[in-house]
Amino acid sequence: MSAPESELDFVQPWFLGPAAENDRMLEELVVEFLRDHAYWRRNFHPEDGLRISVGARHAQGFLDTQARMRQELYRMSAALKRAVPFFHPRYVGHMTGDLLIPGLVAKLITTLYNPNNVSEEAAPVTLEWELQVGEQLARMFGYAVDDDAEPCAWGHLTSGGTVANYEALWNLRSVKFYGIALQSGAARVGIDPGPVGPAAKPLSAYTPWELLNLSVDDTIALRRDVARALRADHPPERFAEFAAAVRAERIESLGTAGFFMKHGVEPPRVLVSTSAHYSWAKGMKVLGLGTANLVHVAVDDRMRMAVPHLREELDRAEDEGVSVLAVVGMLGTTEFGTVDPIHEIADERDARRARGFDFGLHVDAAWGGYLTSVFRRPDGSFRERDEVAEGFRYFPSDTVHRAFEAVSRADSITVDPHKMGYVPYPAGAFVARNREVVDFITQEAAYVFDLGDEEQERPRREKLHNLGQYILEGSKPGASAAAVYVTHRVLPLDSDGLGRLLGLTVRACEAFYDSVEAAQERLEGRVRLCVPFQPDSNLLCLALNPWNNTSAAAMNRFSRAVFARMRVDGERPVQIKTFIGSYTSLLKKTLPGDQTHRILTGLRLDPDTLRLLPADPGREADHLFILRHTLMNPWLLAGPDDRSYIDHYWDWLVEVIDEVLAEGGWRGGTGAPAAP
Ligand SMILES: *Cc1c(COP(=O)(O)O)cnc(C)c1O
Repeated sequence: MSAPESELDFVQPWFLGPAAENDRMLEELVVEFLRDHAYWRRNFHPEDGLRISVGARHAQGFLDTQARMRQELYRMSAALKRAVPFFHPRYVGHMTGDLLIPGLVAKLITTLYNPNNVSEEAAPVTLEWELQVGEQLARMFGYAVDDDAEPCAWGHLTSGGTVANYEALWNLRSVKFYGIALQSGAARVGIDPGPVGPAAKPLSAYTPWELLNLSVDDTIALRRDVARALRADHPPERFAEFAAAVRAERIESLGTAGFFMKHGVEPPRVLVSTSAHYSWAKGMKVLGLGTANLVHVAVDDRMRMAVPHLREELDRAEDEGVSVLAVVGMLGTTEFGTVDPIHEIADERDARRARGFDFGLHVDAAWGGYLTSVFRRPDGSFRERDEVAEGFRYFPSDTVHRAFEAVSRADSITVDPHKMGYVPYPAGAFVARNREVVDFITQEAAYVFDLGDEEQERPRREKLHNLGQYILEGSKPGASAAAVYVTHRVLPLDSDGLGRLLGLTVRACEAFYDSVEAAQERLEGRVRLCVPFQPDSNLLCLALNPWNNTSAAAMNRFSRAVFARMRVDGERPVQIKTFIGSYTSLLKKTLPGDQTHRILTGLRLDPDTLRLLPADPGREADHLFILRHTLMNPWLLAGPDDRSYIDHYWDWLVEVIDEVLAEGGWRGGTGAPAAP
């Protein structure tokens, strides 16, 4: 399958290009806006004259310094020739590709102005753009962003998906335990507002379990009810006393351990699939929630969260009276690009919410989030599956289509512009369905408790210009905001904009998937190929096992030797690499038994050779080492000699396979050696 010419034409102007074909355009833009910046400086108090005189440039010291700068920059530039050629279709490794020119120029030029998006004072222009980026992303995901919508979404940029994931936990935690603090604070100062909250009863009448199982929206409503009741019945001093008592009871004041002990609450659980990104484990450590409370839900034969197992884990928590802070669905796993059934997770949430067991729903769409643009029409409506499917062979499966549609039911979403948004690092994003959550985060006195008029109960958008108050990070690059903002302006997040570009990457993945069969025929009698999980998006993993080999360890040694040819090692020039890929491992420890069986059978491996060996010195027998291909380059379906890069990749891979087979070092001493 090749790409239609029109689609390849479409991508021509967007990137510097694999051979820097668009270097003139980039140069022109950079020079033009660099000069523009210089004039801007020159016109800020031109009456002051020059501080660096024209003559100074001829002084010996000046020339020496200039020479030193140049010298070091030459060294830098030379060293960077060992950087990774992410921009090229021969690079199919990690989740990064060429940079879109609008974002690249925006970033380079804005850096000259160096705005700091921690607050409006340091970023009068780019901070507003960052909030608009949040709204663009929220709209793509199907959240409401009109100022008077309730709930109204908001979003902002982070350094990446990792920090956005931490922020999700941080936000949900601050809301989850608020009800208990509110009740304790009220009791402490002897106030009992009522009737309040979803059950319309006195605050003191709520059980701790009820307070732990309020939705985000209900907690916000409860807080507003209480504020309203108190404002009506008590003088401002009394109100301030109450607000201080609530603050003192919060998890943010007491610390996690202090809060759980004082209020007799079990630490909450967070549920993710076994294929979740490792930032979730890091986040549990950072927030003091503990990795022991991170529950790994099994995956199915498509490497998607297995909902029956999710139900079991939710039942267990419910039975044990332990609250669940969040269930995290992956919209594009890092290792496989597979998509969890977000719609089924949301249904599960709704069903349990109705019987008083609630949890936050976060979607980790760091990788796949931008693919939502393929589904979103420019008018904001969501495209039917049949319509989307016209451009593809398999995409989108019913599950994938429904999962993307259901993302708007989540409380929050992580998405990485520096992955499928093709903008420079660092650019991740956190998007929340209800911006009123920021009131639970702020370092200042809570907004809703400010003794203002009723209209101020909801945070106004201007308030968000004190961005540093509501986010994990402090100083942060306004240049990143400019990069993402300008990119979204010229390539909107819908099926006519970015969606067209991303559609090409999914097509490339389908073409690669379809080509596996022919490759298997070529490799008949030499190596068995297996795609362990059918791709949901634009990532494809491939297991390779020498034909008669039955040992997992030997297969891993073989595959590592193949991978060594496509690895960037930092020591040697990248130019000697024909293709560059990445790898991942299927761990015996985390792969469900039925999936292990299916994959081992496909590869004709002896199940007894894959085991959990405490004393396995090379640790070669407790996992399967597989090749991983991220297909985000738009030119994969084109290539030299009228053959696609995918065809070229197979030619090369077959050669490498034959070389490694011939070397034979992979056979090693253990396992069943293959007959040649
Ligand atoms: C990449 C990724 C992350 C982490 O994002 P960074 O930008 O590397 O911090 C988190 N979750 C998923 C699913 C990812 O693919």
